[in-house]
Amino acid sequence: MKKIFNNGYVRLVDTMGSDLSVVNSARVSFNRATETLRPEDEKLIAYLAKNDHTSPFRHATLQFEVYAPLMVARQWWKYIIGSSHQDPFTAWNESSRRYVTEEIEFYIPKVTDWRSKPENSKQGSGPNLDEKIGGEALDRLLDQIKSGMENYNWAIDSGIATEQARLFIPSAYGLMVRWYWTVSLQGVAHFLQQRTDDHAQFEIREYAQAVKELAKEKFPVSLDALLNHL
Ligand SMILES: Cc1cc2nc3c(=O)[nH]c(=O)nc-3n(C[C@H](O)[C@H](O)[C@H](O)COP(=O)(O)OP(=O)(O)OC[C@H]3O[C@@H](n4cnc5c(N)ncnc54)[C@H](O)[C@@H]3O)c2cc1C
Repeated sequence: MKKIFNNGYVRLVDTMGSDLSVVNSARVSFNRATETLRPEDEKLIAYLAKNDHTSPFRHATLQFEVYAPLMVARQWWKYIIGSSHQDPFTAWNESSRRYVTEEIEFYIPKVTDWRSKPENSKQGSGPNLDEKIGGEALDRLLDQIKSGMENYNWAIDSGIATEQARLFIPSAYGLMVRWYWTVSLQGVAHFLQQRTDDHAQFEIREYAQAVKELAKEKFPVSLDALLNHL
C-alpha cells in the first residue's frame, strides 16, 4: 500500500497475468508459449508497444483500491476505455454517503501546501504561497468544515435521511472517498501518461505515481515498454 498525504492511499488488491502473459497472448498467433521471461521476450514486448500492437497488454489486469479526495475521483473516473467501469459501468464501486458507513474525513492541505495561481496558464498551480496566506487558508477551510459538520450532525440528529443530510457535508471536493478500480495494463499506462504529466493537478499526480510504482512491481517490462512508446 502507498500512503498519500495525511489519510489517502492506493492499494493493489489483485492482478491477473504478468509480463509473460503479454508475451504469450502475442505468441498464441503461432501457437507458442513460454514459461519464463527470456531476453527475446522482452524484445517482443518492446516491439509490441512501439508498433501499437496493444491488444496483448489488455490480457493483464490490475485491481486497485483508492482512498482519495472527491476532486481526484472525478478526474480518475474519466478513464473509461480499458477500465471495467465502461458501459455497462459494472466495476467501479465506491463508498456511499447514502448509508453513513464510516467516519467522514477530508483532505486538508498543510500550512505550507497552498499553491499560487500559475502565471502563464489557465490550469495548474504556481509556486507554494507563504505561510501567512497558507495559515489563513487552512483556518478558513477548517472553519468551513466545522460549521458544515455541525449542520450535518444536526440534520442526522433531527431525523433527516442520510442521503439528504449529506447536502450539508462541507468541502465536497476534499471529502475522502474510497473505490475499487479494475483496469487493463494498457489502461493503466494511458492513465499514467496523462496523470503523471505536469499538466495534471498535483494531487492526482501523487496518486498516479503510487499507481505507477505498484503496477511496476508486477509488470516491470510491459509497463516500461508502454510508457516509453505511448
Ligand atoms: C490536464 C488535463 C485537463 C483536463 N481537463 C478537463 C476539463 O476541463 N473538463 C473535462 O471534462 N475533462 C478534462 N480532462 C479529461 C479528459 O478530457 C479525458 O476525459 C481524460 O483525460 C480521459 O482520457 P481519455 O478520454 O483519453 O481516456 P479513456 O476514456 O480511457 O479513452 C482512452 C482512449 O480510447 C480512445 N477512445 C475513447 N473513446 C473513444 C471513442 N468514442 N471513439 C474513438 N476512440 C475513443 C481514445 O484514443 C482515448 O484516448 C482533462 C484531462 C487532463 C489530463
